[in-house]
Amino acid sequence: MIRVAVDTPLRQTFDYLAGAASPVPGARVRVPFGRRQVVGVALECAAGSDVPHEKLRRIGEVLDTEPVFDAELLALLRWAADYYHHPIGEVLFAALPKLAREGAPTRRIRAWWVATPDGAAAHAGDALRRSPRQRAVLEALLARGGLDGEAVGALEGGAREALATLVRRGWAASQEGPPDPAADAGGPPPVATLARPSPFTLTEAQQAAVDAVLASHGRYGAFLLHGITGSGKTEVYLRLVEHVLARGERALVLVPEIGLTPQLVGRFAERFAVPMATLHSALTGAARLAAWRDALSGRARIVLGTRSAVFAPLAGLGLVVIDEEHDASFKQHDGGFRYSARDIAVMRAQRAGVPVVLGSATPSLESLHNARLGRYARLALPRRTGAALPPRLALVDLRAEALRNGLSTFVIEAIRRHLDARGQVLVYLNRRGYAPTLACTACGWIAGCASCDARLTVYARVARLKCHHCGADAPLPARCPTCGYEVRAVGQGTERVEETLATLFPDAPLARLDRDVVRHDEELAAVLTRVASGDARILVGTQMVTKGHDFPDVTLAVVLNADQGLFSTDFRAAERLAQTVVQVAGRAGRGARVGEVLIQTEYPEHPLLTSLLAHGYEGFADTALAERRAAGWPPYGRLAAVRASAGSLQEAVDFLGEARRLLAPPRGLRLLGPAPAAMARRADRYHAQLLIESGDRSPLHRFLAEWLPRAAALPGARRVRWALDVDPLELF
Ligand code: ADP
Ligand code: ZN
Repeated sequence: MIRVAVDTPLRQTFDYLAGAASPVPGARVRVPFGRRQVVGVALECAAGSDVPHEKLRRIGEVLDTEPVFDAELLALLRWAADYYHHPIGEVLFAALPKLAREGAPTRRIRAWWVATPDGAAAHAGDALRRSPRQRAVLEALLARGGLDGEAVGALEGGAREALATLVRRGWAASQEGPPDPAADAGGPPPVATLARPSPFTLTEAQQAAVDAVLASHGRYGAFLLHGITGSGKTEVYLRLVEHVLARGERALVLVPEIGLTPQLVGRFAERFAVPMATLHSALTGAARLAAWRDALSGRARIVLGTRSAVFAPLAGLGLVVIDEEHDASFKQHDGGFRYSARDIAVMRAQRAGVPVVLGSATPSLESLHNARLGRYARLALPRRTGAALPPRLALVDLRAEALRNGLSTFVIEAIRRHLDARGQVLVYLNRRGYAPTLACTACGWIAGCASCDARLTVYARVARLKCHHCGADAPLPARCPTCGYEVRAVGQGTERVEETLATLFPDAPLARLDRDVVRHDEELAAVLTRVASGDARILVGTQMVTKGHDFPDVTLAVVLNADQGLFSTDFRAAERLAQTVVQVAGRAGRGARVGEVLIQTEYPEHPLLTSLLAHGYEGFADTALAERRAAGWPPYGRLAAVRASAGSLQEAVDFLGEARRLLAPPRGLRLLGPAPAAMARRADRYHAQLLIESGDRSPLHRFLAEWLPRAAALPGARRVRWALDVDPLELF
């Protein structure tokens, strides 16, 4: 009896009889499933089954002779399925690249051309006397015991055509070749580990960090590497990986989503001569499969990737690194399996008995809390490397300032000053488009989305109105559709700020960075190059500008509006604001000059802002953690959110209400809701959520384990779309 997991939301595994060959645990198999044949993953051999023997069906093809999930990874994924209360089949399939889910072979298969016995006879006779090309190819096949396609192509002119003719005549044939030795070598790489040694001596703080992690060699230890931007965290990762490689072990390095991968890949590739597998969302299916195969075969010594790379197969793991550990992109927050790659990475390191390093300039409050409890060892890099000094931060009171399209006079003057001094300026605003609102100047009409509870964003240059939630896209009306009077764009987006700055500073070349102007890595690279080369003097952008790019000449950074983060229904908004401010500040003054950071706000007395300015990120964290403790929010309490959406709000709320009534929560657990989401209607679907709050982790998980199957059995569970999010990052 073989227990098999298939890619289905059903919360169970399926039993099959072994077929001609018996799969090893962790291997993929083809099995009949209903009326279809699907790919599954063999989990284990079982002595018996609850299904009567005569009803059991037989496993079809066994796709892998070697497991795609080794015992360690399989155990980790089973833990994840338990922790996130998600069906094991969907968890396992989320860990595979798409083509592997569909059954693609795990090894690179090379077509291998050999001479047939007839071919050998033909060569011995003189049938090929007048076909010198075919003769030459046949000779090569015989002499070298076969050739792959590439080697055939390398023969003299017309070899491929000659080979095709030989195949037609039955004198040559293809067979599945010997595995590509380069692709499947599991042993130590034939090349030296280092491509180039580090050009620097480590600072004292860097050396202390490296030593601390190395002291944990061969056993679990979690390290929070808290270092401001430019303090040399990446250099610490590189040194640690160097040690790991020298011992013949492998490293797993996780990075956030937004276009940073190429930069870090560049630094790793420059330093190390070993094969590296990079896994990120911009890869094509084939490229992703190839990288995953390199990880599986052991060829890759370093696996570097975004969120789902945490599941990469990797034998001989010696170190896990999570760069920018606070980044929200480590959390899968939609689709079926909602997991935190950061948390799973820590668990992976723990189960593998290896150190894990979580690096950030602005650690998540969860990780800071773990460090304060002593669960993570804290490693600080307090200073920037080289001559760079920390920037000076100041608040600009928007109530006291005259504004020009969102820019205060004070800020405009500061920009002028920095440009005159040949500095570069960075302006951050978390809003794409020209303006967030189009309003009628007479009747008060506001352009809203027909499918969402949201306003349409104005795009002036292309004269369109777009919805950022459902993608709706319409022409920009010249007049109010209800009263015919004039309309006006209200508020600021990056496009408008760019326009305003272009008018104010006509001599300063501008660059803009947001998802509207940069959609691919190449476009991103082009903008970054313009800024890094000094070609652009002002950079305007959204969140994208805050990520770890190194712009040594930026001397002024401006946060146009801090207030969105101060008053939000989401308890994490303040944390995100503080992180953004610190990350933006980190862009200023990375070179020899001291940077200046200006934060525009209407609430300069807000305690979160004042603590951030007076005592830095740590000071902010004290204030914010005290608030969290008082409210029982994470990291002091545990949360799970059940989200439902349906064609009507009633349906969604009704389902959650019924689910809530299924089981009385035990003491210490609170159910909140169901309540409509802050933006209830999105793309014509209505969203509601039920929040489950608990002081401790284990009662929450016991409750979920008992409650979830019952909720799934409700008739409403099939009418609405719903999902459980354990440790949700965003609440709405
Ligand atoms: P972070 O990852 O914390 O932003 P990096 O590792 O990128 O910091 O280092 C910032 C800059 O300082 C880089 O240009 C890097 O090459 C340089 N750097 C790192 N460590 C040292 C060192 N020990 N001495 C001199 N320069 C260093
Ligand atoms: Zn919409």
